[in-house]
Amino acid sequence: MIPVSVFAGQRVALFGLGGSGLVTAQALKAGGADIVAFDDNPTSVDEASKQGITTANLRDEDWSLFAALVLAPGVPLTHPQPHWSVDLAKAAGVEIIGDIELFARQMAASEHKAPFVAITGTNGKSTTTALIAHVLEAAGRDVQMGGNIGRAVLDLDPPGKNAPLQAYVVECSSYQIDTSPSLDPSVGVLLNVTPDHLERHGTIENYASIKERLVANSDLAVVGIDDRYCAAIAGRLTEADKPLVTISGRSDGNAEVGFNGEALVLDTGENPVSLAGIGTLRGRHNGQNAAAAYAACRAVGLADEEIQAGFSTFPGLVHRLEQVGSVGKTLFVNDSKATNADAAATALTSFDRIHWIAGGLAKDGGIEPLVPHFSRIAKAYLIGEAASSFASVLADTIPYEISGTLKDAVNHAALDASRTGEEEVVLLSPAAASFDQFRNFEKRGDAFREAVMALDGFSKFESNSS
Ligand code: ADP
Repeated sequence: MIPVSVFAGQRVALFGLGGSGLVTAQALKAGGADIVAFDDNPTSVDEASKQGITTANLRDEDWSLFAALVLAPGVPLTHPQPHWSVDLAKAAGVEIIGDIELFARQMAASEHKAPFVAITGTNGKSTTTALIAHVLEAAGRDVQMGGNIGRAVLDLDPPGKNAPLQAYVVECSSYQIDTSPSLDPSVGVLLNVTPDHLERHGTIENYASIKERLVANSDLAVVGIDDRYCAAIAGRLTEADKPLVTISGRSDGNAEVGFNGEALVLDTGENPVSLAGIGTLRGRHNGQNAAAAYAACRAVGLADEEIQAGFSTFPGLVHRLEQVGSVGKTLFVNDSKATNADAAATALTSFDRIHWIAGGLAKDGGIEPLVPHFSRIAKAYLIGEAASSFASVLADTIPYEISGTLKDAVNHAALDASRTGEEEVVLLSPAAASFDQFRNFEKRGDAFREAVMALDGFSKFESNSS
């Protein structure tokens, strides 16, 4: 745990006692803050009290005594409407911050300076974070990875005497950036911005401006230029003369690190590392992720050979184009994390003949943006609430069935794919949320994996790394 001493001796309110909220409360307490925590869920309050955290209904407290309100990530700051604790803090002029802000302030105050790589974007955050962490670890660094992936950021080990060989690799959601006004990573990575989560951020402009804050104060900004919002952000950084490396999943633009479909390409024309044959980095979107990881790892001091070695052994993440295994010539891929059309588009462009399992709880815009990729789909198997609305978009363009459940979809797709005798892919990339049939996208991916592993003749995919 990283004890947070920047509020030592001060009274701090904390709202939201889920997993990361509890860790934050402990870190503040360990650093000497006088912490008062609360949650709308009485069970969470009890749990915190049992762990020795002072709890009280923050509605009844004297807010003029608080130095800050620390808000847990899922608690609404602005949209759809501010949480009541936010209203109380604002009325009393108390600043509102999150755990990433505490981490940033603590790092700034620490005598040991370790590189801090922060990653955000609409899609690809977790993959890029895990890839950077893996490459740095393979090169012998003591990597502390967390934030919106894995461990809460204040649960990581504090920087110590070997700080120059340590590296903090932290995934940041928009919610976390929104409550981190002084976020100033050594390397800030912004991959892309497309409409998603607008229910929490209002307009796309507001959402993009929150993302921009992660790179605005970084020592080096690494910014994707494949969408117009990020391209504009890169333009502003250039105008302000800020250190910037532009990256792209393509090689036809002006990016300093691009991707030609096989290898990364520098603006000098050089190919510093290749992605050929690395199954866990398949597809153009992973070209974008790899270009970002390359720029970040170079900035931390790695050589091209070290980065190539790390890429080649990247085990990938579960539920993101995860190669589950095969039956005969059919490959089964679990991309349950693709909860919107943009993410599913990247999966659909990564394979040639696809038996596509899609559906769930539809998001705004549905699957209209996927029409250009329909030619790669042999047949669609629709599940969940979105089945009929997705079916109306597929209409006469490609064959589909309404399978209803994921298990039926897997069984039918496996049978259809085996009939052709060709190399086919059965891909779960739902382009929809999971909550109508599953607790979350992880459970949906697990159910897919189980259904696939139960198929006759199944053999597991062996990755080229441990
Ligand atoms: P995040 O953490 O931002 O949600 P993940 O790395 O978990 O992103 O990937 C989520 C989904 O988004 C994956 O299933 C993949 O298909 C897609 N994806 C990954 N990287 C990118 C990218 N750079 N651009 C667009 N889509 C991507």
